[in-house]
Amino acid sequence: MKKELLRKNKLNFTMLLICAFAETGVWIGISLILEKVLFVATSDDINGLYTQLINGLVLFLITTICLVVNIIVKPKFQKRAIKQYKNMIYQKLIDKSIENFNDYETSVYISALTNDVKYIEEKYLFSIFTIITKSTMFISALVVMIIYSPLLTLISCVLSIAPLLISLIVGSLLSKSEERISDENGKFMHFVKDNLSGFSTIKVFQIEKKIKALFEKNNDKLETSKAKKTRVITILELLQALSQLIAQLGVFFIGAYMCIKTNTLEASVLILFVQLMNYVIDPLATVPMLISERKAATPLFKKVEEILKKCPEPEKEMLEFNESISLNNVSLSYEEKQILKGINLKFEKGKSYAIVGPSGSGKTTLLNLLSARMKEYSGSVYYDNIELKDVSLQSLYNELSFVEQNVFVFDDTIENNVKLYSKVEDDIYKDILNKTCLNILLDEKGNEYKCGENGSALSGGEKQRISIARALLKNTKILLMDEATSALDVTLTKQVMNNILNLKDMTKLVITHNLDSTILSKFDEIIVMSDGHIIETGTFSELVNKEGMFAKLLNFSTTN
Ligand code: ADP
Ligand code: MG
Repeated sequence: MKKELLRKNKLNFTMLLICAFAETGVWIGISLILEKVLFVATSDDINGLYTQLINGLVLFLITTICLVVNIIVKPKFQKRAIKQYKNMIYQKLIDKSIENFNDYETSVYISALTNDVKYIEEKYLFSIFTIITKSTMFISALVVMIIYSPLLTLISCVLSIAPLLISLIVGSLLSKSEERISDENGKFMHFVKDNLSGFSTIKVFQIEKKIKALFEKNNDKLETSKAKKTRVITILELLQALSQLIAQLGVFFIGAYMCIKTNTLEASVLILFVQLMNYVIDPLATVPMLISERKAATPLFKKVEEILKKCPEPEKEMLEFNESISLNNVSLSYEEKQILKGINLKFEKGKSYAIVGPSGSGKTTLLNLLSARMKEYSGSVYYDNIELKDVSLQSLYNELSFVEQNVFVFDDTIENNVKLYSKVEDDIYKDILNKTCLNILLDEKGNEYKCGENGSALSGGEKQRISIARALLKNTKILLMDEATSALDVTLTKQVMNNILNLKDMTKLVITHNLDSTILSKFDEIIVMSDGHIIETGTFSELVNKEGMFAKLLNFSTTN
């Protein structure tokens, strides 16, 4: 994961790294110049002053070059790193199987692409340069100090212990609280996303106050965890400032004492020490913290890796559907509850099947199973002679389309929603629009009409027709439909269903609650389900004559 930040970005990284080192050199250089200038000033050495002036100009030049390099390279480095990282996350996300995707809530994925990336950008990507600048500054300052006065260096080190300790404590506290905050943030996002998508329910059932109370509770939890961190950090920062002040004043006064009493130190060297102490204390106070912040990003990389992990798919067989789908003694449970119970069915290529039955009888579950969304079933499901578990999903979805009960519509034009961003020949597209009666909708709304967030600007029936159009456009050998015309009026339902049933080569499995005899009599077979069992199968007339459950359902629907 981390590698993606540096892929094709190493040259930019190296240039910024060189600038970071150069920056150290410049700051140490300035301190040395300061000492030299003070020395020549007190010894009336004008030539020495010119030399230092030239040195100063060189440092100025280096700084300017670094500045220009930073202006050009830094944004490029950042853009490439973060863009690549997010693209890679999205690529892995989109490669997940439907089953795998459902292992985590959507807010977890959103968080990985937003909050976590922001943290990585702010606390991981650039901090390496600061850490390098400050660490090299620390080492070089210490070396210079030792050269000038080992004794005062030793005293400085002793005085710097307190700032270092405080900084280490801050660092370890920070990474712990950062994890807690990231956790709370995830919960908060999930809550907001969930209840905003239920906005109309909240309004219609007038539960604004209750939801607001829940929001306030969630909000309070998140902000409390942040406040805890701020309190601890602020206390430690104040202590840090105090201990730094003591260290700096300490070196200053002890140095001055050495100048006056023991004559072991030049005044110019004392100034140099005061200056260099900044470069020693500042890294001590900040680098451990920067390092722990960087370390706190490691769990984020691990988290992304974990949630985007793809279960290794063993070599699967390619399906080219030619004969039939058969289910032999198939049972399926959700947790403890058995939903499908010993199902035996055979669907032959090119035929049409209607699946009817009371709600909750397992119809949707059956189609979900056939579209390979449930792996945990007993018995066997064969597409031709390949067991479903051995079929490559890619090849299955080449052969099968599924019009689901809940249609997803992108916030885009009707055309893009039907074509799903693919190129489609005009006459094919127009034919599909006619078959699904979407031509009337397009005439009415226009080509530029946007469908709204999840199709909020369309009616349920319009969304369903878009979804049917997609499936027809995909023109696969197998078509699964789950109550796909439930929101259409009788005339439209008949028209659309007729068009679908006329697609001769397609194997059609259609769940319907619409027990219209003219439509049902056109199916090759009707399957009646109840409580996870297949109760009856047969043609319309066979089932009517049988006077069993189907006849009862039919009677019930016509008398109501
Ligand atoms: P139908 O489509 O015939 O109305 P379903 O196949 O949707 O019925 O549901 C059959 C049963 O399975 C129902 O009792 C439902 O509560 C249960 N069920 C459906 N989906 C889930 C799920 N994701 N987790 C647990 N139970 C479920
Ligand atoms: Mg259903």
